[in-house]
Formats: sequence, structure tokens, C-alpha cells
Amino acid sequence: MQKNEVMNYLIMAGSTNHMLRGDKLLKDIGIETALVPAPAEYGSVCAIAIRVKKDVVALAEDLLRKNAIVIQGIYPDLPKRLSGLIEKMQQDILSEAFIKIMKKIESGEELSYEDIILLLKTERKAEMDALFSAADQMRKEIVGDVVDVRGAIEFSNVCMKDCKYCGVRRSLPTLERYRMTEDEIMEIVHELHAMGLQTVILQSGEDSWWTAEKVIALIKRIKTETGMRITLSIGERPQEEYARFKEAGANNYLLKIETTNREIFEFIHPDDDYDERAKCSEWLRELGYLNGSGCMIGLPGQRPEDIARDILFFKEMGINMIGIGPFLPAKGTPFEKYPAGSVEMTLKAVAVTRIVCKRVFIPATTALASLDPDGQIKALQAGANTVMLINTPAKYRYNYQIYSNKNMIDLHAAIRAIQVTGRKFPSYLKIDVEGNIDAGDTQKQ
Ligand code: SAM
Repeated sequence: MQKNEVMNYLIMAGSTNHMLRGDKLLKDIGIETALVPAPAEYGSVCAIAIRVKKDVVALAEDLLRKNAIVIQGIYPDLPKRLSGLIEKMQQDILSEAFIKIMKKIESGEELSYEDIILLLKTERKAEMDALFSAADQMRKEIVGDVVDVRGAIEFSNVCMKDCKYCGVRRSLPTLERYRMTEDEIMEIVHELHAMGLQTVILQSGEDSWWTAEKVIALIKRIKTETGMRITLSIGERPQEEYARFKEAGANNYLLKIETTNREIFEFIHPDDDYDERAKCSEWLRELGYLNGSGCMIGLPGQRPEDIARDILFFKEMGINMIGIGPFLPAKGTPFEKYPAGSVEMTLKAVAVTRIVCKRVFIPATTALASLDPDGQIKALQAGANTVMLINTPAKYRYNYQIYSNKNMIDLHAAIRAIQVTGRKFPSYLKIDVEGNIDAGDTQKQ
């Protein structure tokens, strides 16, 4: 290859919406693309460009124009001239701007939007290590060393929504759909209760068969038979239903905003409205739920600026549980060819969220554990304090693959993560270190 030979071109679309639609069009006909930050010198309207290989740039341009995608410009993606030497030297140095933010954290000052962006953008190893360690210290001082363990039952994969990223979306004709019966659910709830767990998470697609009456009957049964705390994660419902669930005994509700970038939100949710989703979160807060939200990292076109806004949204909405996981491609979905989100960016987002939102539950997400076998451990070391076990019965699990190759976090994995990170088991857990149910007081701390 010649030293400065151009191998790739950057296509700049007229808006975020055109960029997202254009990228999808190209991917769908098999053209390899990547969404990358646009170099400032190209005076971008839209800060993300579509990168394509040189040999397909003309074909890509033609296809985009035929589909009315506005192209603001097409530029060569010039190879970097740096050998990477200076970059490597910088890895071990904390920049002045970074140190300034660390000082702010130390003195208890609130971080600004710009500070958050700088933290999310850092790629220097020394800075990332310092960020994770600051978040870990904040976690220790504010919520302590105990890792909260919760059990999740994915009780129905029937969904009326068609979210483009999701492996249980409506338009997946070959997916075998299931609904657990109330008795099947209760059997698992009793198992969790016997393990000493205090919270059960009931999650499903947006399944209207599960009417408010049926959900309420289930809540009441769980309360009467076990007294466990209940987290519902069953999507968008009318305010009046949220109120009735709360009255029946539901304690927490998990409804992720997924992204606060409206254009991306609308692009990935063909039948959802950003304002309605945000409204649901507000209702849940007003009704007194412990309110759960979260976002995906690595959505098409998403920039660190968007993630910074997500984190400020969690803070401003007073969100109590914040699940941050990488986007993972799911087979058969419109996004199956999209790249997964990065482990590093997810960990940075977890760390910054702990620093900004402080006294909140942050799970080490299943999605992160699916992308990196040590993901759970890394998240626990970067500000997370909760682990969610997947307790869906084996015969149904395969059909709740919201993304492909989903890691089924079990008790053993959780125990290992808690031990490796030197954290404490919750005193309510009635298991020994091998994961056997044990009503006695064993060495769990
Ligand atoms: N229907 C409920 C709702 O909308 O909140 C709960 C079920 S939904 C499948 C649960 C979560 O799965 C979503 O909030 C989303 O963040 C996550 N999810 C779905 N598909 C994903 C994917 N491909 N990669 C990462 N996370 C995904």
C-alpha cells in the first residue's frame, strides 16, 4: 500500500436522520459501512459520517441519491500520519483537563455536561484507570461493599413492539413465543425466596394478554406467599395501570429510556414516541416507585455527547436504578449486521453515572457479561453494585434472546464476581459460597 493511499471515503449526510437511514440502506444491500466521528475539517452538519470502502463509494452514492438521502459531501478518509508513538507515550499521562475534573470530584463539586463528555471521550489508559478507581471509591463511600443480588424471570417473550434492535420484536416470524403460567412463575419465585433473595424482577415483552388484572393477581400472590419486593419491567402502560400495580404491592419499575437522542430513539423504535416513554418515567416517579431507567451504548450514530445527556437525564429525573449495557446485535433483526457497543465505553458510562448520580443502584448488566466474560467483574470495579441473576426456566431461555449469545448469569457467576472483587455478599442470601442453599450463617462476607 502507498503511504498516503486513500482506502476509505466518508459520506456526510445532511442530518442525523439521513445518516442513520442511509447507513441502514447500505448495510441492507451488503455494503460494509461504519459510523465514525467526522473530522472537524470537513465542516460537518452532522458529526457522524458513514465510512465506506473506496471501491464501493460510487455505488453507495448512487444508491443514497436514488433513495433521497441528502448528501452534504463525500471526502477521502485520510490515513493518520502519526505512527502512534506519541499516543502511546500519552497513555501514561493524565491530561491537565482530566486532573481538573478529578479535583472537582474530590471536592464534591457537580460535574458539567462538558466534564462528562471529556471523561467519556478519554482513551488514555491512565485516565480510564483513574476514572474507574474514582467511581469505585465513590461507590464504596456511598453505597458500601455489599453487592445486591436480584433474580429475574422473563415470563413472556410476546411483544407488540417492533424495536429494531430487539431479539423478541414483533416481526420475528420464526421465534417461538411463550408465556409462563402464573404457577410456573410462582415456582421460580419460591426458589428465589428459598435462596434468601429479597427482590424478584418480572420482565416481559409488551404483552397485552397480561392484562392489568392478571399482573395484579400475580403481584398479590407473590406478596402473600413470599413477601418479596417486586420489580416490574413490562414496558409502557397507561398511568392508571402503573398506579394499580403500585397499590397492589409492586415496588420498583424498570423502563429504560434507551437513548435521550430523539433522532436515534425514533430511528430505532418505529412504533414508539420519545415523549411518551419519558412521560411514563415521570408517572412512575410521581407514583412513588423506585424508578429504573438506563441506556444502550453503541447505538447507531450515538456519540459520547448523547451518552452524557443520558447520564444527566438519569440525574435530573431522580432515577434510582440505572442499567447501562452495550447494544448487541440480535439475529434476524434489522440491526443484526450492526457492530456491538464497546466494553470500554460501557464501563466509562457506568463509572461516570456512579460519580454523577451517586446514591443509585447500578447493575453489572447481562449484556456486558455477554460481550466480555469478565464484564460483570469489570463493572463491579467501575461503580456497579448490583447483580441480576437470570432465573427464567431453561426451556424458555433460548427464546428470550433479546440479543444473540446472551450470557445466562447464574448464581455461580455472581458468587465468583463478588469474590474476585473482594466485595460482600448481602446478609439476606441463604447460600454458601458454593451456591448451595444454606439456612445457616456461613462465611459470606
Ligand atoms: N418490554 C420491556 C421494556 O420495553 O422495557 C422490557 C423488555 S426489553 C426486551 C428489556 C431491555 O432489553 C430493553 O430495555 C433494552 O435495553 C434491552 N435490549 C433489547 N434488545 C437489546 C439488544 N439487542 N442489545 C442490548 N440490549 C437490548
